[in-house]
Amino acid sequence: MAAANGVPANNTKTADWTPDSWRSKPIAQPVNYDDGALVEQALTKLKHVPPLVTSTEIWTLRKALKNVALGKAFLLQGGDCAERFDYCHDDTIDGKIRLLLQMSLVLIWGGNKPLVRIARMAGQYAKPRSKPTEKVDGKEIPSYRGDILNGYGSDERDLDPDRLVQAYFHSAATLNYVRAQLASGIADLHNPMDWGLGHVTDPALLAKYTGIVESISGSLRFMKTVGADTSTQLQSVDLFTSHEALLLAYEEGLTRKLRHPKNRDVAPTQESANGTSIQNGSSAPTDGSGYYNTSSHFIWIGDRTRQVDHAHLEYARGVENPIGIKVGPTTSVDDLVQILDLVNPRKEIGKITLITRYGKDKINDMLPKHIEAVRKTGHLVVWQCDPMHGNTRSTVEGIKTRSFQHIFEELSAALRIHTECDSYLGGVHLELTADAVTECTGGSEGLQDKDLSQAYHTYCDPRLNEKQALELAFLVADSQQQ
Ligand code: PEP
Ligand code: MN
Repeated sequence: MAAANGVPANNTKTADWTPDSWRSKPIAQPVNYDDGALVEQALTKLKHVPPLVTSTEIWTLRKALKNVALGKAFLLQGGDCAERFDYCHDDTIDGKIRLLLQMSLVLIWGGNKPLVRIARMAGQYAKPRSKPTEKVDGKEIPSYRGDILNGYGSDERDLDPDRLVQAYFHSAATLNYVRAQLASGIADLHNPMDWGLGHVTDPALLAKYTGIVESISGSLRFMKTVGADTSTQLQSVDLFTSHEALLLAYEEGLTRKLRHPKNRDVAPTQESANGTSIQNGSSAPTDGSGYYNTSSHFIWIGDRTRQVDHAHLEYARGVENPIGIKVGPTTSVDDLVQILDLVNPRKEIGKITLITRYGKDKINDMLPKHIEAVRKTGHLVVWQCDPMHGNTRSTVEGIKTRSFQHIFEELSAALRIHTECDSYLGGVHLELTADAVTECTGGSEGLQDKDLSQAYHTYCDPRLNEKQALELAFLVADSQQQ
């Protein structure tokens, strides 16, 4: 039987999919626990606990991302590279919420578009590693793989299945606090904001940033004067959560078959670029329900686990959540097209976010080809630039860092190339923290390689500190205004 939109009713994308069908596929970054019984016990628990997010929230984000794909909104996604269980602490969480909100105000000012905010938080506990072991104090030991798998201490590197359950409860506590703070007005824009521009010594930059802050403050004052402050818009915002779907046993454990919400965006139908009539919104399975990853609103597949015939994409293709795919210098055009068709066979607009992370030297060559190839398929994706992961380097002392200048260069190139290709850069994906760390060089504080040891606290990749993150938002906003 053919459905009204031309897609055969029995050809649903999840017809041969189950939450555990990934288990029959080859897998990159495999996880081999010693004690299968303990893993089973943890999974039984995960399958029993309540969802962290709902299908309604997931579809609210899906709709917002559709707007981003259509060029009507901008996406800011950011947070730690490796979230620790220890970051489940009020000050740490408050700092990150405030920073993301402040950056989003600047970006709204720059792009004149609504902002969609997604935190790399409340579950970003699993890390892909380039080597299974690493040298610590002269000894080769198993690599740290994120708090959901093992501990950072050199005596905690054995994989511990109990961490699967701990990850759930740390996510739950973090998300509970985020929701409580948002509901209690942490995002109330009437509160005075500390823009902390004291470190900016370059007079031209200081004038530029001060101008932006004054413009934002002026707009807020104006809205208050005309009574716009009575709307709840200014007092609360949406903040969605995300993490890399790397540890599939965990993702499987929190996958639930749920009724689709009423707000699901299944109409109107759209003509795809290659002429096929497609429907926005999945209808699989056909009984009004679908599979949802309830561990976070948005999940992404990393650059090391995006093989077309492997386990991670097999898992990702079956859930209703919006899916991010990291796209790097080794992503071929063929792979990219196959990935899109596999994970989003109905070409739902904004279902996929392509998170490009080529590095400043490769973006000019790679991005135009990828934009062109995706356009030909008829997929309408969110294009998001991750200017962090392609620009990692080591200092002579062997410290992993990134230069603010290189990060901004890749981001500027992404903005320029999308415009040149008549495409839309819909978002930015950053590793950041609100703490005064010294992990990336550059920015107005002028951090150099020799300064990195002052406050180098990351457990994986170097993050922008609060000043650098805000400064990047200022620079992006300024270039959007040009
Ligand atoms: C990350 O986002 O932390 C990450 C590991 O990225 P990628 O998969 O792009 O290397
Ligand atoms: Mn990282």
